[in-house]
Amino acid sequence: MWNRDLTEALAAILNPEAAEALRDLGKIADDRGINAFVVGGVVRDALMKRPCEDLDIVVEDDALDFAAAAARELKGRVKKHRRFGTAILVLGRGVKVDIATSRSESYARPGALPDVAPDPIDLDLRRRDFTLNAMAARINADGFGELLDPAGGREDLETGVLRVLHERSFEDDPTRVLRCVRFAARFSFEVDPLTEKLLQDAVDRNLVSTVSGERIMNEIRLILSEDEVWAPLERLDSLGALASIHPEWHLPEKAPNLFSELMTIMKDPVGSIRSATLWHTNFLAAVSAIDISDAGALLDRLRSGATLRSLVNELARFETRTRERLESEGALSRSSIYDALVALSPETLAVILASGGQIATQRIALYLSELESVRPILNGSDLIVLGLQEGSDLGRVLTDLRRARLDGFVTSKEDELEFVRRTIRNLDVKNKR
Ligand code: ATP
Repeated sequence: MWNRDLTEALAAILNPEAAEALRDLGKIADDRGINAFVVGGVVRDALMKRPCEDLDIVVEDDALDFAAAAARELKGRVKKHRRFGTAILVLGRGVKVDIATSRSESYARPGALPDVAPDPIDLDLRRRDFTLNAMAARINADGFGELLDPAGGREDLETGVLRVLHERSFEDDPTRVLRCVRFAARFSFEVDPLTEKLLQDAVDRNLVSTVSGERIMNEIRLILSEDEVWAPLERLDSLGALASIHPEWHLPEKAPNLFSELMTIMKDPVGSIRSATLWHTNFLAAVSAIDISDAGALLDRLRSGATLRSLVNELARFETRTRERLESEGALSRSSIYDALVALSPETLAVILASGGQIATQRIALYLSELESVRPILNGSDLIVLGLQEGSDLGRVLTDLRRARLDGFVTSKEDELEFVRRTIRNLDVKNKR
């Protein structure tokens, strides 16, 4: 049975700086004569003994005033979100603390942002998404670490159950549909039967469609940043939740395989794939079976920025123009493989590596492990010394030189010099004609 005093549990999962920040913030709350708590994911993670980085603090007072006072005393920086009455306090040594006023919420209609009112911590916890996220621990010096658990979150953690706090929860905030699937998958928890029914009802009533694109995208990003993305995505698909985001959004037929390959690739990435953004890569894979015009409409719905759009277009272009050549059994020179892949982003490379047939996979792997880093010994300045002028010829000769090196026609500096001199002679002849 877990202790009601979380002092040790918090110290065990927080880095020493964050643990110290909690004590310091507790003392500042004492000085102001107010109650302060660490809440939500941190408390859950402390009970589960999982490491946690960011701190969420709730004060029974004005959060902006408290954050400003804390920033002065602890020599931190504070970023205020006046509209939400919340602040982010950034302390030295990488500690980031979200500070909010303890409040209750009511919803005018599904999908709307809540109306909020300051209220005691107990009500603040009761407005939260799931019982396991509805716990707090006091941080005032008197009673530091004392657990507050009005909804039975600790017991649900013990039994591995994900449960909403009340029957209107998904209706109040349908982003919880996405959060439910994410937490259930992350912790391998059972969704409590009533919660499961409410979840399916919410999807069947198409409540997700009432939520703004930005909020859905934020939850999708969180799902796609998890260690394991296949399970939550598959769950969303089978619930019908992907389709309520966009009617044509369904996962590729080979999705289990695709995501498992992708996971392996991204765990130990090779070559330029190292700089791929994980959630963008997963997003590309998740929409790779959709027609490009539907994918565009989905991106509109999610209010996506330009980066994802260009990735989605790039993958679609690869599928229509290049995939077949890369999969073909006929011989393909090393420079042709290079040319086919060089303009692709790390994210697209990761997805086509994960989804390729055997031949394409071998070629992409060769590109990543070897071809993409092949450079001629001579550079632009060397070519100018040899008599070329800056401009398109220079670029073209460098490209040809790289091709010659890729295909083994030049292997030494002398070979390259000879190659360039010959090219210049040919160019001179051509220019004189
Ligand atoms: P993670 O480990 O993924 O960061 P977290 O629980 O810290 O999970 P956040 O999104 O940072 O999740 O939210 C912090 C806390 O705010 C949650 O633990 C939960 O109590 C509350 N919360 C967040 N989103 C919602 C929501 N949509 N409805 C109700 N409560 C929410």
